[in-house]
Amino acid sequence: MIPAYSLLLQKSKTMAGVYIHIPFCKQLCSYCDFYFSVSLARKQDMLDALLYEMDLKKVEGGVLSEYNEHDVATLYFGGGTPTVYSPWELEMLASKALSLFLPNGIEEFTVEANPDDLTPEYLESLNAIGVNRLSIGIQSFTDRDLRWMRRRHTARQAINSVVNARKAGFNNISIDLIYGIPGMSEKEWEENVRQALELNVPHLSAYHLTIESKTILGKQQKRGLFKPVDDEISAWQYALFEKLTAEAGYIHYEISNFAKPGCFSKHNSSYWQQKPYIGIGPSAHSYDGKNLRRWNVANNKKYIDALFSGNIYYEEEHLSIYDRYNEYILTSLRTSWGIDMYGDINNKFGDELYSYFLKQAIPLLNADRLEFENDCIYIPSKYFFVSDSIINRLFYVS
Ligand code: SF4
Repeated sequence: MIPAYSLLLQKSKTMAGVYIHIPFCKQLCSYCDFYFSVSLARKQDMLDALLYEMDLKKVEGGVLSEYNEHDVATLYFGGGTPTVYSPWELEMLASKALSLFLPNGIEEFTVEANPDDLTPEYLESLNAIGVNRLSIGIQSFTDRDLRWMRRRHTARQAINSVVNARKAGFNNISIDLIYGIPGMSEKEWEENVRQALELNVPHLSAYHLTIESKTILGKQQKRGLFKPVDDEISAWQYALFEKLTAEAGYIHYEISNFAKPGCFSKHNSSYWQQKPYIGIGPSAHSYDGKNLRRWNVANNKKYIDALFSGNIYYEEEHLSIYDRYNEYILTSLRTSWGIDMYGDINNKFGDELYSYFLKQAIPLLNADRLEFENDCIYIPSKYFFVSDSIINRLFYVS
């Protein structure tokens, strides 16, 4: 059953977001495949470059003229580790984004943070500069697993970071957990979930540990130092997370995301609704909400040098109608509200792709892998864990 507020969210006013990528970390986590540098030597140059890229994005027209049709309402600092910058440095970036892209103010201002950076003083300053949502990368409440993943914090620091965030005035807090960790027992996973619930934050994310070949874990796996977790164990952990969070009043509104009513991530929801977004910083992506996507070079030196020498610092692609259909299927079916059958596919992609979608969807509906309700088609949450195989069957392949 699709909750009414999901439909409300789906039909809410058009909204777009600004994402600022802070490409530095103090230590390399063993599973990490994101773009960042552990050398902080060019922190000041990067700050100047991020500010300059915002100016460029504002004046260059083209892709930006599309953003101007929308209310840009969310600001998100991700990384890397945004908290390598002081709150005042983050405020410089936020002020620039506000003045250029957010004329009507910010509905949601999120900063990703690692627990060990969130001292009471730092939190108070974040609050003072207008941050109203924290996404805290806790990942685990088991010290052994934190060490194995080369996280910089302990379980105690993770708990304290949430307690201190509340004391500093933050109510809108999200925490991330990782499941599918080799060696973690059923009991340990349940304790992790119960500890997260005890903190009673309004938003939780649960991600399966992904082992990419170039990461530390990828190399360890190649040397046979550990075995990945069996799919059945991962599926059990995911199901337990879903069950316990549902009992605690959370809505499973996206494959990896769970929130109390009214606390869905506005910024990420706009991605899943194919709204335009502006990405600032190395490796950041931008999308005009129609058919143009850009991505910045994923290298700090090349990014800074290209920006200040007037060279191109991004690549771009023009999406065909088939690319856009596939992206629409991928992002919409990640959510609990799914696809609006009568408003979306035929309007956006025409009769040919609408007929194609129906032909592919009917066997999945008959097999209960998809459900149809309130004019929407969606993946029942019990099949979220195998959503890739369902979504693949709906893709258009020429
Ligand atoms: S803190 Fe985040 S971005 Fe940085 S290395 Fe760890 S997982 Fe990667």
